[in-house]
Amino acid sequence: MASNGVSGLDMEKKSGGGGGVEDIYGEDSATEDQLVTPRTVSVASGYTLLRDPHHNKGLAFTEKERDAHYLRGLLPPAVLNQDLQEKRLMHNLRQYKVPLQRYMAMMDLQERNERLFYKLLIDNVEELLPVVYTPTVGEACQKYGSIFRRPQGLYISLKEKGKILEVLKNWPERSIQVIVVTDGERILGLGDLGCQGMGIPVGKLSLYTALGGLRPSACLPVTIDVGTNNEQLLKDEFYIGLKQRRATGQEYAELLHEFMCAVKQNYGERVLVQFEDFANHNAFELLAKYSKTHLVFNDDIQGTASVVLAGLIASLKLVGGSLAEHTFLFLGAGEAGTGIAELIALEISKQTKAPLEETRKKIWLVDSKGLIVHSRMESLQHFKKPWAHEHESIRALLDAVKSIKPTVLIGSSGVGKTFTKEVVEAMTSFNEKPLILALSNPTSQSECTAEEAYTWSKGRAIFASGSPFDPVEYNGKLFVPGQANNAYIFPGFGLGLIMSGAIRVHEDMLLAASEALAAQVTQENYDKGLIYPPFCNIRKISAHIAANVAAKAYQLGLASRLPRPEHLVKYAESCMYSPVYRSYL
Ligand code: NAD
Repeated sequence: MASNGVSGLDMEKKSGGGGGVEDIYGEDSATEDQLVTPRTVSVASGYTLLRDPHHNKGLAFTEKERDAHYLRGLLPPAVLNQDLQEKRLMHNLRQYKVPLQRYMAMMDLQERNERLFYKLLIDNVEELLPVVYTPTVGEACQKYGSIFRRPQGLYISLKEKGKILEVLKNWPERSIQVIVVTDGERILGLGDLGCQGMGIPVGKLSLYTALGGLRPSACLPVTIDVGTNNEQLLKDEFYIGLKQRRATGQEYAELLHEFMCAVKQNYGERVLVQFEDFANHNAFELLAKYSKTHLVFNDDIQGTASVVLAGLIASLKLVGGSLAEHTFLFLGAGEAGTGIAELIALEISKQTKAPLEETRKKIWLVDSKGLIVHSRMESLQHFKKPWAHEHESIRALLDAVKSIKPTVLIGSSGVGKTFTKEVVEAMTSFNEKPLILALSNPTSQSECTAEEAYTWSKGRAIFASGSPFDPVEYNGKLFVPGQANNAYIFPGFGLGLIMSGAIRVHEDMLLAASEALAAQVTQENYDKGLIYPPFCNIRKISAHIAANVAAKAYQLGLASRLPRPEHLVKYAESCMYSPVYRSYL
């Protein structure tokens, strides 16, 4: 059985002897769906084992493993344990001054030694999150054509129309539980990056594993390529995608529909499809269309809404009152803004038993044309219509603030420096503790900085932002701004869906996730002005979110993994992938 290659074997042939490493997922198999796809075992040894990122341990192979798996001479004599490897790699990474170099070093590691990659990411999450995800991933997508080495996900273009099911079968893993898919039309704040958007699903899924504990092999990044309208990419000889303008209308809808049907046919009803960075017209439509037939989630709309609602629920401990007693004003009425607004209205409606139409009236939105009011109804996009309340027309944000007198001001327009000194001062003039959330990314587009919010409000603002800001000292007091990072919610949310075998996402699950996250904020955090818990505890936070989401799935009759485990937090923790090396003896 000792071989110097990789072979697919049946489960029954799994044997303890011989010189191969078995491709089963041990302690993290709890979330594996064994009914949908039969398991296979592959065996690798020798040189092939060193080239297999799922099993390679590099210098951490022990003397005995080197003997048993034909590795003698293929490695230098030193044996380093995983902690030492981690220390060495972190030291190397910190030498790079350019963020993109760190990103590429991390991608190389992922392709070389998957467990070590995840160990680094989990143990150094606050330092490495900005490397593997925003903001660095944005630059990586912009340069994806030139840094592209090996495919890290599945590319489905118009060329594959009619063959998508076959294409899915080309992917080496069978037991897929989460797919993150983009069409690259609105990558972060960077616009249409076409096929180069692949960096986003790859990055998001590495967070699913690191923060939410999903097995790497259960995660599938997908980029749908329907062309790009980015002139620069169309002219770029190194561009990796289809060189044509974006397909729209029926052609677009048909490709997406074939993809959604193929996914369900191949992986079953319980596979989670997360839509990511679609332009807002497609994002709303896809979510509405497929939420009835598939397990789908849109992080830009629903994940953002859930993380922001969590911050609002937590902030009530600092600003007082119930959600229903507050008035909300948004600058920006797109995916993020309207998604958050709707979830706030829903939570208030659940708490007060008032109809949604009523609770929406406490929430106002300003878009690029001014306050959304009833007289604009005819010309509004459909997702803005529920927010068109009776009010005179107002063009400028400052005037809207003075007229509506919100207690909570939320920026979600993608336009920086819009919360001016006058706006913050106006908020402070009628609120003891104005709650100001500057959500737009990247940092340069933030509506105001943390320092501006604290200084202009004379230290009274409760502030959180989309991009991270350093703590600020004002009048001898240290203020720590929170970050409304989507990475708080989606990994735990996804884990909750998968561990319960949920077949549909219900909006109550989003509320359950928000409540679980808010409950993780401690008094010590509040004392620093924080409305989100520290990120270093993210795996524990994810387990609590997963448990609450799963509990809701069971309660709503949407869970298919029966019977319900008694201790859901413990069960969530037991399902989580561990990056610690296993012994191959
Ligand atoms: P979007 O394109 O769907 O929506 C943008 C909205 O802003 C539109 O309604 C548009 O009309 C409005 N707008 C544009 N210019 C404006 C102006 N000058 N004045 C007022 N309104 C204006 O984008 P989105 O997905 O909703 O994202 C918006 C911003 O929120 C981005 O910067 C994004 O990075 C950020 N965001 C943050 C988080 C987070 O903090 N967790 C999550 C998601 C999105």
